[in-house]
Amino acid sequence: ATDGRREEAERHIPEQQFQQRETTGSLVSYVLPVYNEVEGIRGFHDELAAAVATRPEYDYEFVYVNDGSADGSLRLLREIASEDTRVRVVDFARNFGHQLAITAGLDHAAGDAVIIMDTDLQDPPKVSLHMVDEWASGAEIVSARRRTRTDTWFKRLTAHGYYRLLRRCAEVDIPVDTGDFRLLDRRAAEELRGFRERGRFIRGMVASMGFQQSEVVFDRDERFAGQTKYPMRKMLRLAADGVTSFSTAPLQLITRMGFVSLVLAVLGILYSVTLRIFFPQVTVSGWTMIMVVMLFLGGVQMLSLGVIGSYVGRIYSEVQQRPLYIVRKVIRHDDD
Ligand code: UDP
Ligand code: MG
Repeated sequence: ATDGRREEAERHIPEQQFQQRETTGSLVSYVLPVYNEVEGIRGFHDELAAAVATRPEYDYEFVYVNDGSADGSLRLLREIASEDTRVRVVDFARNFGHQLAITAGLDHAAGDAVIIMDTDLQDPPKVSLHMVDEWASGAEIVSARRRTRTDTWFKRLTAHGYYRLLRRCAEVDIPVDTGDFRLLDRRAAEELRGFRERGRFIRGMVASMGFQQSEVVFDRDERFAGQTKYPMRKMLRLAADGVTSFSTAPLQLITRMGFVSLVLAVLGILYSVTLRIFFPQVTVSGWTMIMVVMLFLGGVQMLSLGVIGSYVGRIYSEVQQRPLYIVRKVIRHDDD
């Protein structure tokens, strides 16, 4: 059933007229992050290989990045590399996370077009072919927008809200409902390699570059095998990185909260002083009032500190200038 739906993925934005490019014989690279995908990776590679076989006019390379998997993913990837000459495996020294795995893959990809996609079949390989077609007809960056997705209602709801919120406060125009499933032309990929910031939100960085952007829409399937590798903690981290790297709105919000509490403070002061001077016979029980004010201000201040803290934390990790990721080994087809 899923195959039928995948076919429906269609080319989008036909209004844009791009310059057709000469692409025969071009190299198309796939950047494929892998973290504990032992159950699904074989099926994924077979499906990807079958998909690209329908576009024989290009050459392909598959750059798998093993992001410190603790299951047998690496062994399986070695196996795949020994069978398929087009495969390369970048093996990380530990788990560095999805965004850095993509970064490493991009650094190791040499293609005229580079496609970033997940390896759990949630980004269907067939859709990447539509992206390649779009690229051939001139687009420089092609993103894949989810028309539907089959994740949990919680994930769908939070993602929906988050993308719209980000769109409102971010300085760049980040397309809604798109993950990191992208095609980048060689030029765009070169530029993206130049972004060496740490708390990465790659979809935002891509959006900020400009270029001729286009999109395809698709129905996002369920995970083919295994569990999501994005627990709540990593999701929140990514969401925070997205906001702090593309917006200073939270900092401005602090100023606004400051103004609101200042107005409340002035009112409170007027009230207390008036009462003291003109109605000295009235005694107010002060406990409730003091608790309300103290807890309110305490909360606001802690929140503000937290917001400032996340920006300071970004600055700190940025100035440390540590390497973004550490590669143990790059495994090629003819290695063993
Ligand atoms: N991934 C990774 N490192 C991580 C977490 C995830 O390389 O620390 C890879 C994972 O193997 C998959 C992709 O990133 O190919 C997306 O992860 P996942 O499918 O778990 O995220 P979701 O689709 O649930 O948002
Ligand atoms: Mg997934």
